[in-house]
Amino acid sequence: MSESSDLRVAVIGAGPGGYAAAFLAADLGMKVTLIDPELNPGGVCLYRGCIPSKALLHIAKLIDESRHAKNWGILFSDPTIDLAQLRAWKETVVRKLTGGLGQLSRQRKVEYVQGRAAFETSNMLRISRAGGAEETVTFDRIIIATGSRPAEIPSLHLDSPRVLDSTSALDLSDVPGTLLVIGGGYIGLELGTVYAALGSRVSVVEMLPGLLPGADRDLVLPLHKRVEKIFDSILLNTTVAAMKEEGGGIRVTFDGPDVKERERIFDKVLISVGRKPNSDIPGLNKTRVQVDPRGFIQVNKQLQTDDPSIYAIGDVVGEPMLAHKASHEGRTAVEAIAGHKVAFEPNAIPAVVFTDPEIAWAGVTESQAQKENREIKIAKFPWGASGRAMTLDRTEGMTKLIVDPKSERVLGVGIVGVGAGELIAEGVLAIEMGATAQDIALSIHPHPTLSETIMEAAEVFFGTSTHVYRPKR
Ligand SMILES: Cc1cc2nc3c(=O)[nH]c(=O)nc-3n(C[C@H](O)[C@H](O)[C@H](O)COP(=O)(O)OP(=O)(O)OC[C@H]3O[C@@H](n4cnc5c(N)ncnc54)[C@H](O)[C@@H]3O)c2cc1C
Repeated sequence: MSESSDLRVAVIGAGPGGYAAAFLAADLGMKVTLIDPELNPGGVCLYRGCIPSKALLHIAKLIDESRHAKNWGILFSDPTIDLAQLRAWKETVVRKLTGGLGQLSRQRKVEYVQGRAAFETSNMLRISRAGGAEETVTFDRIIIATGSRPAEIPSLHLDSPRVLDSTSALDLSDVPGTLLVIGGGYIGLELGTVYAALGSRVSVVEMLPGLLPGADRDLVLPLHKRVEKIFDSILLNTTVAAMKEEGGGIRVTFDGPDVKERERIFDKVLISVGRKPNSDIPGLNKTRVQVDPRGFIQVNKQLQTDDPSIYAIGDVVGEPMLAHKASHEGRTAVEAIAGHKVAFEPNAIPAVVFTDPEIAWAGVTESQAQKENREIKIAKFPWGASGRAMTLDRTEGMTKLIVDPKSERVLGVGIVGVGAGELIAEGVLAIEMGATAQDIALSIHPHPTLSETIMEAAEVFFGTSTHVYRPKR
């Protein structure tokens, strides 16, 4: 890449957005400096997000399956949990992955600086190294990839080790007898699932009338039914009005029309009420970068800010705050810097909730289409009719396609069930490739797999699914 090979590029923040951008920039021949406080690249996703949470969710699933196995005539005794070893295993996973990213940086000759960056001008950064040294360096382009951090509720602020956020919850310092999760979003439900499997009595409080507010209700229902069994209580339409440390716990006061017990004491409370963009970067006001009222840095489709030298990607530029969105934005920004004709305008950014069952969706959701008065046709395939689901004893799932009735193009896919997070990738490909329901119905899917549910949902669209009988009208 001759035109970009002389460019000096700095990337601030080495999460999945920042390191993907830095690596591609190096591959395109740019001279790259990647700055982050951690020893190696990885960011929130690898150190205190996606990866440690999924490692622990894997364990939770294993424990849950072992208990469920009694239905199949296999009786395991209750697990003995060695928390120190579990923690060590999770940390090994993180160390291996982040170490691998460090190695990939070195192989690509990316200059990785452990430290923090502040703006001096639009093209100059003050870099404070972890060891204390400071330097100012000039760059042709700067990519901001500073991510996000857990949002707080100022009125509920309590300086107590009994109050956790997602980071401290993943540290797994102990397994509290009782845990209240404030917030029924995906992070709260995932971490609640982990603690419930390890033995905590978990309650979830959500101010809205349902869990996972962004997802279609029919996808959430099977999950709700299952978590009702593993959680102590799910309090909807309820807010936490106050929290107070008291004796050996936190006294929580609830408020809302459905509240039966106004006060309860929990051993620990996990606050997971969303995330806040890290746009409060020192010196950002010395540039022309604009930040919107919610704290997101404003960018165009090339991820360029209002300051032509500065690009921004990932959680710091907006929803959905997901690792794969960050990486793709990072790659788009670098291509734009390299002078390629690119834009970040995906038709489908998949979202996965790694609970049990998993929920995954991509493209247009049914509720979004309804809100926009968009004409759509829904085709649902219930997993009760799936041979594979039956062999797994997990028939509560459902696969649905959201289809444009005129062109028969697949606009969206929603799945609830075990492995939904893996299955949704086919939906993303179908949407991005402009596949029609017939394309999916005619693609031979392997038997017996859960992927057949996508093919059969397409057959349902035509009223001809092999395993769903529809009486003739
Ligand atoms: C518990 C949990 C589970 C999650 N699970 C998933 C999941 O399963 N799938 C998924 O897609 N997403 C998941 N996420 C979200 C995902 O972690 C984020 O969307 C993703 O990490 C965003 O990437 P990013 O590159 O924008 O920034 P981040 O990963 O947030 O990284 C930003 C980095 O920039 C650094 N930084 C900030 N300021 C400066 C500065 N001034 N100088 C230098 N460095 C700076 C930060 O320290 C950080 O290391 C999860 C998040 C959490 C908390």
